Amino acid sequence: MPIWTHSRLETAEACPLNYCWSYLERRSGYSIASGAGRIGNTVHSALETLIKNPGDNVEVVLLRAIMAHNLTTQEELEALTFRSKVEAFTQRFHAWRQKHSVEEDQYWVERKLAMDAEFEACSYTDRDKAFFRGVIDLAAMVTKKDGGKILFLWDHKTGEPTDIKEKAKQFHGYSILGLATYPDVDEVRCAIHYVKTGQIIFFPQKFSPETIRAELQNGLMDRIKNAEEIASLNDPPAVESWKCTFCQYAPVCPLKGGAAP
Ligand code: SF4
Repeated sequence: MPIWTHSRLETAEACPLNYCWSYLERRSGYSIASGAGRIGNTVHSALETLIKNPGDNVEVVLLRAIMAHNLTTQEELEALTFRSKVEAFTQRFHAWRQKHSVEEDQYWVERKLAMDAEFEACSYTDRDKAFFRGVIDLAAMVTKKDGGKILFLWDHKTGEPTDIKEKAKQFHGYSILGLATYPDVDEVRCAIHYVKTGQIIFFPQKFSPETIRAELQNGLMDRIKNAEEIASLNDPPAVESWKCTFCQYAPVCPLKGGAAP
């Protein structure tokens, strides 16, 4: 049984052929880490370091991340343009954290969450138990004056802002994992932090435990069933989608004029 992730399900939904080659046959050798991808990983890594260590020098942190991700000179210049944004978000997050009395042990950078098939939390690395898992860029638990708990989940994006509603399935998955991990939470709120513009856009719906259990968990199981059906196809079709822009298989995709190997 595979360990399901939002990325895996999203790939199956976008293009069955890509899903088959990426996740079932695990065809490798086509991988082309794009410049945008390398810059994104660099900025993510610098953000993680700075949020964990807000006193560190932002320039040094960014330069270290640039070296670790092997950027070209042009990519390096582009990554350096994020300097003030990375610094501003770090300051903003810690000011927000202090305002809401979020202690050191109540926020998490790159939080790895996993659950079993009964929606109970389990270890991220437990391959026998883990059924669905995900990595949340930044998470924080706020305890309200009345004792109620709100779990905030953020995803950093270095690309251009898009319609937040397109992230619904991703946030549903995160919220299910959040409730599995923190069953006493009263509400889950999800947001995208667009690093380039500094915008933080919240998903309009706040998820209660009741909604997560009654609606989102069923939705996740439907997605998994759909991916299992795609996996059983003898000849999975190539489907034009947003995925094509980043697809490593484009040179050999029949839809793009390539001959499937
Ligand atoms: S290029 Fe597009 S259609 Fe072809 S395999 Fe990749 S995602 Fe599918």
